[in-house]
Amino acid sequence: MVRLRFAPSPTGYLHVGGLRTALFSFLYAQQQGGRFVFRLEDTDQQRRVEGSEQDLLQMLQWAEVNCDEGPDIGGEYGPYRQSERLTLYQDHLHILMDSGHAYPCFCTQERLDNLKQQQKAQGLNPKYDGHCRELKAMETQQRQADGEAYVIRMRIPDDGEKILIDDLIRGHVSIDSSQLDDQVLLKSDGFPTYHLACVVDDHLMEITHVVRGEEWLPSFPKHLLLYRYFGWEPPRFAHLPLILNPDRSKLSKRQGDVAVEDFKAQGYVAEALVNFIALLGWNTSDDQELFSMSELIEKFSFERVGKAGAVFDRNKLDWMNQQYLQRLELDDLMRRLQPWLDNSRYSGADPEFLRRAIQIIQPRLVTLPEVLDKLVIFFEDKPQLEQPELIDYLHQPTAQTVLRTFQTALVDADTWDEGNFKQMVKGIQKSTGIKGKDLWTPLRYAITLEEHGPDLSMMAALFGKEKCQQLIENALALTTS
Ligand code: GLU
Repeated sequence: MVRLRFAPSPTGYLHVGGLRTALFSFLYAQQQGGRFVFRLEDTDQQRRVEGSEQDLLQMLQWAEVNCDEGPDIGGEYGPYRQSERLTLYQDHLHILMDSGHAYPCFCTQERLDNLKQQQKAQGLNPKYDGHCRELKAMETQQRQADGEAYVIRMRIPDDGEKILIDDLIRGHVSIDSSQLDDQVLLKSDGFPTYHLACVVDDHLMEITHVVRGEEWLPSFPKHLLLYRYFGWEPPRFAHLPLILNPDRSKLSKRQGDVAVEDFKAQGYVAEALVNFIALLGWNTSDDQELFSMSELIEKFSFERVGKAGAVFDRNKLDWMNQQYLQRLELDDLMRRLQPWLDNSRYSGADPEFLRRAIQIIQPRLVTLPEVLDKLVIFFEDKPQLEQPELIDYLHQPTAQTVLRTFQTALVDADTWDEGNFKQMVKGIQKSTGIKGKDLWTPLRYAITLEEHGPDLSMMAALFGKEKCQQLIENALALTTS
């Protein structure tokens, strides 16, 4: 059975890149009838942010990227927080020490800083020089007994061995072991580093596929060595491409939103965000763009994840969100709009009127809270046209004729619905000979106050005769002053 995990550190919010990692792992686990595990990598006590674990889990839940095992729901491979697994790492570290694959290092930060500077000055890549590699057991024990601070490092083969990497996305790459550093596995505070903890946990949790960001690629050969030192079969790995800003720099908070909760707060629906994120680096051969979660589960494959950075195109996300909002059942849309409506001036509005207004607005909504602005015209008694281009247009003689004829026809209208409204406009066509765009545009501008407004007949019907009269008067007043 395949087992995949999402292993975030509780250092803050869920990043969109994190959601993509979780999503791809989830999709593959679902497709293969496997399990998707949440593991909290909280061994870096300094970077820990209170409440982060709950935020991460809540955002995954919101996106419907559901975990089968995790700290909140348990499972057979727990505990699922690394801070609760410390003895496991200690035990495994002893195995490495006993076999000579790890050693204590007493170098001070000052020595390491100096070393780094010297290496940089010589144009070399900073790297630990192996100073403590050959300390005798006696000396080590004495220094430990004296309470001297130390870390444990892994021993990288220094024979320039080629380490073969096999990645589901990048294929085969070979790395020279001389490029690798004697990685710290246990910090002086007694906590393991990510490298030891993740290898031990992935093995003990029987993870079959590790999906993670490209930033972990440089650590990959060290992890493979650790698997070898332990005598374990490594899982398969998939390193996902970077997510980029439109200017091809790495996606960063400085250039805009990167937290899933920001997108939620701005009124993107989870289905659209998930769909959009699925396409950051992955696609199908037919360039399909809209996928439900079950289609994603069916169609996802690592073979179709690219190596090149994926651009986070906000316009595309907007387009996608609009597509999803357009397809929602009206009741479902109303439910999702509720939090915004509840805190607005529309909270006490007549529910039926509000519902019909929202139905008219629905095709044009890009994000949920936009509804608030778009509703204004429905609730304002005397909304005024403000765009100068539209007012200029209404100055034209044909526009004036249409508006005036409509105004007169309105007086005689005794029933008022969509059908009547259309009839009335046809009547104007007959009596004035004005048709098509010339006929509809002035009415659209006067009644919807927008160039690409919502459905004009529906809107006129909902407004009622008086309000339409008022709007036509407003438009005429603007063009005769
Ligand atoms: N804790 C690591 C992170 O926050 C996980 C990397 C991995 O998935 O192996 O990115």
